[in-house]
Amino acid sequence: MVTTWPKNFPGLGTGANYLAELIGKLSNGRIEVKVYGAGELVGALEVFDAVSRGTAQLGHGASYYWKGKSSAAQFFAAVPFGLTAQEMNSWLYHGGGMELWEEVYAPFGLVPGAAGNTGVQMGGWFNKEINSVADLAGLKMRIPGLGGEVLKRAGGTPVLLPGGEIFPSLQSGAIDATEWVGPYNDMAFGLHKAAKFYYYPGWHEPGTTLECMINKEALEALPEELQLIVRSAIRIANQDMLADFTAKNNQALEQLVNEQNVDLRRFPDDVLKKLRDLSDEVIAEEAAQDEITKKVFDSFVKFRDQAKKWHAVSEQAYLNARSL
Ligand code: CA
Repeated sequence: MVTTWPKNFPGLGTGANYLAELIGKLSNGRIEVKVYGAGELVGALEVFDAVSRGTAQLGHGASYYWKGKSSAAQFFAAVPFGLTAQEMNSWLYHGGGMELWEEVYAPFGLVPGAAGNTGVQMGGWFNKEINSVADLAGLKMRIPGLGGEVLKRAGGTPVLLPGGEIFPSLQSGAIDATEWVGPYNDMAFGLHKAAKFYYYPGWHEPGTTLECMINKEALEALPEELQLIVRSAIRIANQDMLADFTAKNNQALEQLVNEQNVDLRRFPDDVLKKLRDLSDEVIAEEAAQDEITKKVFDSFVKFRDQAKKWHAVSEQAYLNARSL
């Protein structure tokens, strides 16, 4: 298994390790999975090609890294103002999402699987207050993917930086702000030592799904029960990572606020509304790229609109009630 994460990286790398061990245990040692961190066998962003050509049989990453292969891939990781973890899993397993993901990866000889979720991420670390849309103008922020494009349209300057370069860039003032993941991973990087304000919510990554892709030929060469074990282990790992992130984020947020005196801020409503409108624009343009992306977009948006109505009277209504 090649991965896009540094070896043993908290949550993501350890999630890949957990999946590898689980496949070994469930198969009673008939399958042994060796995990490679980014750069060990192939570079982080070469995972897709490596598994596609069979250099490795499994790959652990996030599908938005492969937008160069297919624009549609981004919808299976995270979309600004898209689906939460619970909604993503519902769409994938019971709303037609998985079949679409399989269709998108099939031309590459890959079988996809949802293999983890971070839950709602944080909005990020800022060295200036964001009180209005005007405060986004000129803001130099590390924010990748579709979220970056949205920030650009709001007048900001998105910057692409790998994880390891975030802290020094924020500390030196080379960037004004950054997003990463959430309290658990952000604290591990020490981001609270380089910025004053910690904004929420992570509108750009509301339930980022991680993936485990399988080389199709290698999977089909296995006896049926071992194929089922691999697929089932991925499904177990998907659930386990979300539980891990939720538990660790709870603890880390408490520490950041109570021990590190982090200034926790919510983005103002008008900023969120502006970002939401721009996000709708950006994803509709992505969808217009090709036929398969349009097909995925239509399914995704239809599911999101339904989930929005149901969750307004269930999850959202309950969480609001609990906080009264
Ligand atoms: Ca992120």
